[in-house]
Amino acid sequence: MPTVSNEAWIVQLMLVPKSVRPWVRNLTIRRARPADDETDIEFALHDDSPMSSWVRRAEQGDPAGIFDVGTAYRLPEHAQGQLLVGDGTALPAILSILDATPSSLATEVCLEVAAAADIRSVEAPAGVRVHWFSRDGEDVRPGTLALDAVRRASLPSGRFHTWVAGESRLATAVRRHLVNDRGVPKQDISFFGYWRLGRSAPA
Ligand SMILES: Cc1cc2nc3c(=O)[nH]c(=O)nc-3n(C[C@H](O)[C@H](O)[C@H](O)COP(=O)(O)OP(=O)(O)OC[C@H]3O[C@@H](n4cnc5c(N)ncnc54)[C@H](O)[C@@H]3O)c2cc1C
Repeated sequence: MPTVSNEAWIVQLMLVPKSVRPWVRNLTIRRARPADDETDIEFALHDDSPMSSWVRRAEQGDPAGIFDVGTAYRLPEHAQGQLLVGDGTALPAILSILDATPSSLATEVCLEVAAAADIRSVEAPAGVRVHWFSRDGEDVRPGTLALDAVRRASLPSGRFHTWVAGESRLATAVRRHLVNDRGVPKQDISFFGYWRLGRSAPA
């Protein structure tokens, strides 16, 4: 397993001969209970990918290595609102952000999931509005529904911070739309390609 907790982990991993290189995937700590030695992770299963297959056959007691690259969300002090956008892979991160969101902060959330069965009720502070979109039965590229929703959305008033993650085109297209069509300053947007359609991780 890589041992460094910074961006150099990928270099370290690639130096391991392929025959003994472990499968490594980025995941989000949804909740941690250090006193109980417990961590919750939510996997967006799909097809027969290495991660999905491992999750489906995993049994209690199977070994898995974890190393922490230590990223966290910090809302800029000047932000009067939030826009959170993501697909199923960003769901754990968005739910964690909502856990820490004060009720005074106007927050719009656009979440796209693969199937209607993935939609759940969210316990969120009063100022939060969650909009769900499911691709169920629709032959569209992942991220399309969330992107369309942002294009139609009335945005929080005042200066707000946007956090968007998921399929990489969703992240870049949301940023491009906000900057070019809505006049949002680039520095008010955090965007992350969590995975890329047709490409296996690590990229
Ligand atoms: C910081 C960070 C945090 C993340 N947190 C989470 C998390 O909490 N939970 C989570 O499930 N994922 C999370 N991801 C995304 C996850 O790491 C990727 O989806 C990863 O590619 C999954 O590996 P895999 O073995 O399933 O597929 P890969 O071997 O990487 O890819 C195989 C094929 O599946 C496609 N693919 C990958 N992911 C998906 C998907 N979700 N839906 C449809 N097709 C897909 C690829 O385009 C490729 O064609 C996170 C990524 C980052 C960078």
